[in-house]
Amino acid sequence: MSKIYCIANQKGGVGKTTTTVNLAAGLAQVGRRVLLVDLDPQGNATMGSGIDKRALDTSVYDVLLESATVTEARQPSPKGGYHVVGANRELAGAEVELVELEHREKRLRHALAAVREDYDFVLIDCPPSLSMLTLNGLCAAHGVIVPMQCEYFALEGLSDLVNTIKQVHANLNPDLQIIGLLRVMFDPRITLQQQVSEQLKAHFGDKVFDTVIPRNVRLAEAPSYGQPGVTFDPASKGAIAFVAFAREMAQRLG
Ligand code: ADP
Ligand code: MG
Repeated sequence: MSKIYCIANQKGGVGKTTTTVNLAAGLAQVGRRVLLVDLDPQGNATMGSGIDKRALDTSVYDVLLESATVTEARQPSPKGGYHVVGANRELAGAEVELVELEHREKRLRHALAAVREDYDFVLIDCPPSLSMLTLNGLCAAHGVIVPMQCEYFALEGLSDLVNTIKQVHANLNPDLQIIGLLRVMFDPRITLQQQVSEQLKAHFGDKVFDTVIPRNVRLAEAPSYGQPGVTFDPASKGAIAFVAFAREMAQRLG
């Protein structure tokens, strides 16, 4: 049965999509069957997996509104070695349309139940907000992976996310827990980053993943080539770190 994880942080530009795409490719590389679900109307995870968001026949929007199943909406990432349910701007409308519907926050959960034997891991790339879309992700998931930069304000933002996760856990999804905090775009030469990293470990203990993702330009370049950094330049520091993170995840969680 698949383990379902949201990659979430309500801040934009913190590395959610880069983490989702490269963890998917890394897990595929270590032999796991992976489905990536793009829940962000920006469609960056879709494009970064080598799938043109403007040319989607069916997307996660259709899945949420039940006009397509996950089986109908998924397609392989050409280079990534995993499957993708893509997203594009159409998804922004789902926010409004879902409000009218019953069980609106559990749509994705129900849709993913149909493919739970097909994958070892389902990774959900969340938008930078605590919206109905993110709520669908949190209701579907067993856990949350929080990528974060080791900057002063990162800790402040974290408390909002932790509170939201607690509320979803209490009211909607008792399975939900924080799997871990992933330090990304890390530059060990910056003293503040080292300090925040130490604070994180002091405060969150073993909820902080051992693997640290360095700042690495190859990870930033890869999306314009339509593939994860892990396959685009396997020898780069960023790719090596994400494969190590995939191994850490696979070891911790099967
Ligand atoms: P989010 O999905 O949280 O908005 P992204 O994953 O899109 O964040 O990352 C924001 C920007 O930072 C992108 O341009 C991405 O290529 C870049 N980026 C992410 N992780 C790294 C990294 N480890 N090293 C260098 N650039 C990175
Ligand atoms: Mg993103």
